[in-house]
Amino acid sequence: MAVKRSFSLNNKSHCICLKCGAQILPDDLKDDTVYKCVRCGQEMTVDRYDSRAVLTVIEKPELRRRIPPEIMNAAPQQKAEIARLLQENDSLKDQLHKADGKIKELRKEARDWERAADGLARMIEEIKEKEGAAAGDTK
Ligand SMILES: [Zn+2]
Repeated sequence: MAVKRSFSLNNKSHCICLKCGAQILPDDLKDDTVYKCVRCGQEMTVDRYDSRAVLTVIEKPELRRRIPPEIMNAAPQQKAEIARLLQENDSLKDQLHKADGKIKELRKEARDWERAADGLARMIEEIKEKEGAAAGDTK
Protein backbone atom coordinates (compact mmCIF):
# COMPACT_ATOMS: atom_id res chain seq x y z
CA MET A 1 0.00 0.00 0.00
CA ALA A 2 1.26 3.45 -0.92
CA VAL A 3 1.45 5.89 1.99
CA LYS A 4 1.71 9.07 -0.03
CA ARG A 5 1.07 10.15 -3.59
CA SER A 6 1.32 13.45 -5.40
CA PHE A 7 -0.47 13.71 -8.70
CA SER A 8 -2.03 16.03 -11.23
CA LEU A 9 -5.80 16.18 -10.96
CA ASN A 10 -5.91 16.15 -14.76
CA ASN A 11 -4.67 12.57 -14.70
CA LYS A 12 -7.69 10.64 -13.46
CA SER A 13 -5.82 7.31 -13.35
CA HIS A 14 -3.67 8.70 -10.51
CA CYS A 15 -6.59 10.13 -8.59
CA ILE A 16 -7.24 6.92 -6.67
CA CYS A 17 -7.31 5.59 -3.12
CA LEU A 18 -3.82 4.87 -1.73
CA LYS A 19 -5.02 1.58 -0.29
CA CYS A 20 -7.50 -0.03 -2.65
CA GLY A 21 -7.11 2.03 -5.81
CA ALA A 22 -10.77 3.08 -5.96
CA GLN A 23 -11.38 6.11 -8.17
CA ILE A 24 -11.65 9.41 -6.32
CA LEU A 25 -13.42 12.39 -7.81
CA PRO A 26 -11.15 15.45 -7.78
CA ASP A 27 -14.10 17.44 -6.39
CA ASP A 28 -13.99 15.24 -3.27
CA LEU A 29 -10.45 16.38 -2.51
CA LYS A 30 -10.60 19.61 -0.57
CA ASP A 31 -7.40 21.20 0.68
CA ASP A 32 -6.31 20.40 4.23
CA THR A 33 -9.12 17.93 4.84
CA VAL A 34 -9.40 14.22 5.49
CA TYR A 35 -10.80 12.13 2.67
CA LYS A 36 -12.35 8.77 3.51
CA CYS A 37 -12.36 6.17 0.73
CA VAL A 38 -15.93 5.20 -0.13
CA ARG A 39 -14.85 1.63 -0.93
CA CYS A 40 -12.31 0.58 1.75
CA GLY A 41 -12.71 3.32 4.35
CA GLN A 42 -9.03 4.28 4.33
CA GLU A 43 -8.62 7.85 5.51
CA MET A 44 -6.19 10.15 3.75
CA THR A 45 -5.24 13.76 4.32
CA VAL A 46 -5.50 16.04 1.31
CA ASP A 47 -3.12 18.82 0.41
CA ARG A 48 -4.31 20.51 -2.71
CA TYR A 49 -2.54 23.02 -4.89
CA ASP A 50 -4.30 24.33 -7.97
CA SER A 51 -4.27 21.37 -10.34
CA ARG A 52 -2.26 19.07 -8.07
CA ALA A 53 -3.14 17.11 -4.97
CA VAL A 54 -1.12 15.17 -2.44
CA LEU A 55 -2.71 12.28 -0.59
CA THR A 56 -1.12 10.96 2.61
CA VAL A 57 -2.51 8.10 4.67
CA ILE A 58 -3.88 9.40 7.98
CA GLU A 59 -1.53 7.08 9.88
CA LYS A 60 1.53 8.97 8.61
CA PRO A 61 0.94 12.69 9.25
CA GLU A 62 4.70 13.23 9.49
CA LEU A 63 4.97 12.58 5.74
CA ARG A 64 2.88 15.63 4.98
CA ARG A 65 4.84 18.65 3.95
CA ARG A 66 2.47 21.57 3.66
CA ILE A 67 3.63 24.35 1.46
CA PRO A 68 2.09 27.58 2.71
CA PRO A 69 -0.49 28.90 0.18
CA GLU A 70 1.29 32.26 0.06
CA ILE A 71 4.26 30.43 -1.47
CA MET A 72 2.09 28.41 -3.85
CA ASN A 73 0.32 31.58 -4.98
CA ALA A 74 3.45 33.70 -5.17
CA ALA A 75 4.61 35.16 -8.47
CA PRO A 76 7.25 33.05 -10.30
CA GLN A 77 9.97 35.55 -9.39
CA GLN A 78 9.02 35.37 -5.72
CA LYS A 79 8.92 31.58 -5.91
CA ALA A 80 12.47 31.55 -7.28
CA GLU A 81 13.54 33.86 -4.45
CA ILE A 82 11.81 31.65 -1.88
CA ALA A 83 13.45 28.55 -3.35
CA ARG A 84 16.82 30.31 -3.18
CA LEU A 85 16.23 31.30 0.46
CA LEU A 86 15.16 27.78 1.37
CA GLN A 87 18.33 26.46 -0.23
CA GLU A 88 20.41 29.07 1.60
CA ASN A 89 18.71 28.04 4.82
CA ASP A 90 19.66 24.42 4.18
CA SER A 91 23.24 25.40 3.45
CA LEU A 92 23.40 27.51 6.63
CA LYS A 93 22.04 24.60 8.65
CA ASP A 94 24.77 22.46 7.15
CA GLN A 95 27.43 25.02 8.06
CA LEU A 96 26.02 25.30 11.57
CA HIS A 97 26.20 21.54 11.89
CA LYS A 98 29.85 21.58 10.78
CA ALA A 99 30.64 24.43 13.18
CA ASP A 100 29.04 22.45 16.01
CA GLY A 101 31.33 19.55 15.18
CA LYS A 102 34.36 21.86 15.18
CA ILE A 103 33.36 23.34 18.56
CA LYS A 104 33.08 19.86 20.06
CA GLU A 105 36.53 19.02 18.68
CA LEU A 106 38.02 22.20 20.15
CA ARG A 107 36.33 21.57 23.51
CA LYS A 108 37.87 18.12 23.61
CA GLU A 109 41.27 19.57 22.70
CA ALA A 110 40.90 22.18 25.46
CA ARG A 111 40.09 19.41 27.94
CA ASP A 112 43.19 17.52 26.84
CA TRP A 113 45.30 20.64 27.35
CA GLU A 114 43.74 21.18 30.76
CA ARG A 115 44.58 17.64 31.74
CA ALA A 116 48.15 18.08 30.49
CA ALA A 117 48.45 21.34 32.45
CA ASP A 118 47.13 19.60 35.58
CA GLY A 119 49.69 16.85 35.12
CA LEU A 120 52.43 19.45 34.70
CA ALA A 121 51.31 21.34 37.83
CA ARG A 122 51.37 18.10 39.83
CA MET A 123 54.85 17.32 38.50
CA ILE A 124 56.10 20.78 39.54
CA GLU A 125 54.59 20.27 43.02
CA GLU A 126 56.36 16.92 43.31
CA ILE A 127 59.68 18.41 42.22
CA LYS A 128 59.26 21.24 44.75
CA GLU A 129 58.48 18.72 47.50
CA LYS A 130 61.54 16.70 46.60
CA GLU A 131 63.70 19.83 46.53
CA GLY A 132 62.23 20.92 49.83
CA ALA A 133 63.01 17.51 51.31
CA ALA A 134 66.54 17.63 49.89
CA ALA A 135 67.08 21.13 51.31
CA GLY A 136 65.77 19.89 54.65
CA ASP A 137 68.33 17.06 54.60
CA THR A 138 71.31 19.39 54.29
CA LYS A 139 70.23 21.38 57.33
ZN1 LIG B 1 -9.87 2.62 -0.77
